[in-house]
Amino acid sequence: MSDFIPVNTPLLDGNEKKYLNECIDTGWISSEGPFVKNLEAEFSSYIGQKYGSCVANGSVAIDVAIRAMKEVYKWQDNDEIIVPNFTIISTAQSVVYNNLKPVFVDAEPYTWNIDTSKIEAMISPRTRAIMVVHIYGLPTDMNKIFELAKKYDLKIIEDAAQAHGQSYYNKKCGGMSDISTFSFYANKHIACGEGGIVITSSDKLIEKVNYFKNLCFSKDRFVHNDLGWNFRMSNLQAAVAYAQFEKLEKSIQQKIKMGELYQELLKDIPAQLPVHKTDYAQNNYWVFGLVLNPDVKFDAKEVMQKLADKGIGCRPFFYPLNEQPVFQKLGISDNIERPISRNLYKKGFYIPSGLGLKENEMYRVAEAVRSLF
Ligand SMILES: *Cc1c(COP(=O)(O)O)cnc(C)c1O
Repeated sequence: MSDFIPVNTPLLDGNEKKYLNECIDTGWISSEGPFVKNLEAEFSSYIGQKYGSCVANGSVAIDVAIRAMKEVYKWQDNDEIIVPNFTIISTAQSVVYNNLKPVFVDAEPYTWNIDTSKIEAMISPRTRAIMVVHIYGLPTDMNKIFELAKKYDLKIIEDAAQAHGQSYYNKKCGGMSDISTFSFYANKHIACGEGGIVITSSDKLIEKVNYFKNLCFSKDRFVHNDLGWNFRMSNLQAAVAYAQFEKLEKSIQQKIKMGELYQELLKDIPAQLPVHKTDYAQNNYWVFGLVLNPDVKFDAKEVMQKLADKGIGCRPFFYPLNEQPVFQKLGISDNIERPISRNLYKKGFYIPSGLGLKENEMYRVAEAVRSLF
């Protein structure tokens, strides 16, 4: 269909091409190139932390972040990490890959972030850290997390893959924890196709991140004391990410404008729209999600099919982590129900939200959504 509106269209209208040409003209294409170094230095400083380490994507950023923490803080196998139940597999997968145990906490029904009031009951003597994920453009309510971390002596990990440039009060997301991660996947606020970064202010953690992401090379270069990974980011990816970073503030203002327009156009449909504003943040609408009201006869799957038939690309919300077949197979899930994340999956979906989306397309999307009810 020629007029199909995809769920995401990136906008590459800054210095992306110029910087890519620089890589080619200078021959700096590997991870040794200057865009990698500049992005690490400038993005970490923007976030308010000392160090950055670019990696191949946002998923391996979490792998290596947790690996570094396990090493530095001397966590043991099967120690536990609190993880939101409503998020991408990458978060819990990284915990499992590091021989730790994810403990899933249900979502909060309106912000869709981890329900901070349900965390304390899930803390055990083996809990070592709380991982938060700022969902869809609205930060997690961090003050409660800080309180619990202090009370139980826990570390905090922030997966800020959907929250570049977002703030909690006046603190940047990714700048409120022991270690944080970002993704630069094609649909993120900073997009370079595939890419990610780990951010921290700890000398020890950054040293281990850089070690494990780079095959654990030692001073005696080809002598290895540990097994790591090659998670390096190329200068080509960093060139695009750097150009996107230069216009981050502008992109976010644009996203907020788009969110406001959708809010206006969809205000009276029988669905819950994203929370526009809280005491601690203004939503920056990484994506625009909808959750159908309980009295709506159909679920998200049917709605997405109907919208696809009208030429509109949507995505379902996340599948609850505790119900993931892989975690049931591995015996990681317990029998506790997480009804909020279950309902979010059943009734939630998001509509085209990329920066490349045109205003007339947004009207078309909204009209198609309204026509369903
Ligand atoms: C996108 C995303 C990731 C994974 O990033 P990739 O670069 O796609 O590997 C991890 N966590 C969250 C919350 C994300 O949105």
